[in-house]
Amino acid sequence: MKTKIDADRFRVRQGSRLRLTRCPTDVAPVYDSKDHYGELLERQVDQLSELQERLYAADSYALLLIFQAMDAAGKDGVLKHVMSGINPQGCQVFSFKHPSATDLDHDFLWRTTTCLPERGRIGIFNRSYYEEVLVVRVHPNLVRGQRIPGFTTARGPFWKDRYQSIVDFERHLGRNGTRIVKFYLHLSKKEQRKRLLARIEDSDKNWKFSVGDLEERRLWRQYMAAYEACMSATSTAEAPWYAVPADDKKNARLIVSQAIIDALTSLKLTYPELDAAARRQLKEIGRQLAK
Ligand code: ATP
Ligand code: MG
Repeated sequence: MKTKIDADRFRVRQGSRLRLTRCPTDVAPVYDSKDHYGELLERQVDQLSELQERLYAADSYALLLIFQAMDAAGKDGVLKHVMSGINPQGCQVFSFKHPSATDLDHDFLWRTTTCLPERGRIGIFNRSYYEEVLVVRVHPNLVRGQRIPGFTTARGPFWKDRYQSIVDFERHLGRNGTRIVKFYLHLSKKEQRKRLLARIEDSDKNWKFSVGDLEERRLWRQYMAAYEACMSATSTAEAPWYAVPADDKKNARLIVSQAIIDALTSLKLTYPELDAAARRQLKEIGRQLAK
């Protein structure tokens, strides 16, 4: 039986005012058993791998995938499982942590720009320039460290300008062949608690636990407000956000993989075709090799 995965229902519509309390963190899973999940994931990975090959061969579009989420939402797991079948040569992953002094000496889009995917490649940003309107919006004092001339306080217009810079930047990339898809892994506060506890209780997971995560957890409401404002302002037809229910890791992986497949399929990628002269030349070379 062919199970159809509908990722589009989680796409944030351009111009909509997103309310995360109305977006589910948990939905009926698309798989009905662990085995079924395995089969579906394999099918998705095969499809992705085929599409990636075409992206690489066509060498004209690039795909940028952006992942944002609260801690323990499963970003790493999504990357590991969904991108597992992809040819590593055609894929680059970058993780963005606290900015360095050099980063802070530039505008807020600078450090990610040098990491953008080349034509024919898939680039993955594990966190991104969106941190600049998420963690930085929740901790507006961080803006002071950026020494922006004339900056006094981070009020509404300041963030509106940042959203606009992002939308303009993404539009520019789109016009030049980079397709962008953005994922917010939508985890409930309750499920995060469960996962953080597991990191404490299971000694193999202790290394994943960070005291800082608890401090950010206390600011949950502020983070949700920042995510809502950010996704409402920056989800566009060309660079959409997906608010993916993430309480069930397996289901989240299947939904993300489908959204990536949808994006690549929409590019209508074909293998490059040789013109008549090149085909003749190739035939001739084949004949000589065969001798
Ligand atoms: P893990 O799942 O392993 O915890 P992570 O992505 O949370 O991965 P960490 O090293 O725990 O990685 O955290 C990176 C931290 O860097 C996050 O708290 C994030 O908010 C912060 N960060 C990223 N970009 C910026 C930025 N531009 N300004 C300030 N903080 C940032
Ligand atoms: Mg972390």
